[in-house]
Amino acid sequence: MKSQVPPNESSPPAANDLDLPSFRIDDSVPSADVSRRSRKNAPPTRENHGVRRISGVIDESLIDDDAARVVKKLTRAGFEAYVVGGCMRDILLGGRPKDFDIATSARPEEVRALFRNSRIIGRRFRLVHVLFGTDKIIEVATFRRSPQTESPEDGDEPGDLLIRNDNVFGDAHEDAIRRDFTINALFYDLDRHEILDWASGYEDVRARTIRTIGDPFVRFREDPVRMLRAVRFAGKLDLGIAPDVCDALVATREDLLKAARPRLFEDTMRILRGGTCRRSLWLAWDAGLLAVLLPDLAALIDDGQESTRSRATLVWRKLGALDAVTKARGTHFSDEILCAVLLEDAIWEASGHDRDRVRAVSEWVSSVLDRIAIPRRVSEAIGRLLHVKAKLAGGKIPSRLVRSDITEGAVELLAIEALARGESMAKVDALRAAVEAAPRPTPVPREHRGDSLRPR
Ligand code: ATP
Ligand code: MG
Repeated sequence: MKSQVPPNESSPPAANDLDLPSFRIDDSVPSADVSRRSRKNAPPTRENHGVRRISGVIDESLIDDDAARVVKKLTRAGFEAYVVGGCMRDILLGGRPKDFDIATSARPEEVRALFRNSRIIGRRFRLVHVLFGTDKIIEVATFRRSPQTESPEDGDEPGDLLIRNDNVFGDAHEDAIRRDFTINALFYDLDRHEILDWASGYEDVRARTIRTIGDPFVRFREDPVRMLRAVRFAGKLDLGIAPDVCDALVATREDLLKAARPRLFEDTMRILRGGTCRRSLWLAWDAGLLAVLLPDLAALIDDGQESTRSRATLVWRKLGALDAVTKARGTHFSDEILCAVLLEDAIWEASGHDRDRVRAVSEWVSSVLDRIAIPRRVSEAIGRLLHVKAKLAGGKIPSRLVRSDITEGAVELLAIEALARGESMAKVDALRAAVEAAPRPTPVPREHRGDSLRPR
């Protein structure tokens, strides 16, 4: 990565303004098996992974009651079952998990047979959703192991590590070590009140460090989306990234182009939705991931020219404003609004300030489609959002205003921009009140068809 020091205002964003990750790597935390870590290519195999059991560090009242019920029913039926993954990491970091996942030795059909309120989902990667009430889902996955990397086919580069099939059942240990980062591989045993740790994840949580399980170069080549996950977790949880993982991010960044493009879009959206996208995207830019995924945006930020530089600063400020508003609302914006905030300035620069924003967006989106699959419904809405935003930007309230998801979204974009520029919100508040009072078009006329930003 170019640096681990937050940038100052004269180059891209301001450090204190940006609230960037602190990159703490706490070497004072005693490490039980540092020697293993320093052996860079040590494969995570059965032989060198004795499980470490840790008790007394989890407040079990923070584990969801329904998730605990599912685990207990599975274990009473004779299966192994654990609360796993991100929720255990979040509890240890002092956060409140947003969902609870369970891993078990039971096959999907066996889980389905135990829970009346359940359904099997996915055709290839089959999981069971156990439903509670109207909208609560506990996801139960059968232990899987990392598939053998396929031998290269004709046309593949030698040593191609990309995983194309990850649906092979395994045991608990195999399921732990196939996961991406050590902090995401903690299993909780509710019977014995112990964490099971095969990957030194507990140490890394305490050291607040993101480390891959095994060689980061291999793990990123197997699944390049993990690179976006690394910067997302670093930003969201304010964690440091281990130096070898930073090096691998930079070295394997071009592999992002080998990942399935819809997954790249989805994981970019996960970054934008979380309320900490500015920090994650700064890391993505610093490691060169942004240049691979969205070269126009990275170039705008990289560019040293005075006029462009102020636009680059605005990009970071808008992302910071987006985070602030997302946190204040308590829910995330639609993908269309998130993409409009992220991409507006890059599109504007790339289109040579084309005043036809719908055309500019559509041309720009086609130019990046071979890198990241921005769905058509999203790109079309971005064009309309930016068009309406430009019309409303003067603050004058149009006489024939309609209330649609697009007009409401355009007002949100103006609010984010005003916040980013440190401007008064008075004009935006007046616009918002006018849009709320405006009639919804019924029946929907042709020009407003598709003006809905469906929540996801
Ligand atoms: P969040 O709280 O943001 O959802 P999470 O850790 O729960 O974080 P998920 O995407 O929900 O992330 O994935 C659940 C778990 O599945 C992860 O904690 C990790 O153990 C595993 N996992 C997810 N994606 C990958 C991947 N690409 N490679 C390996 N393991 C993965
Ligand atoms: Mg999750």
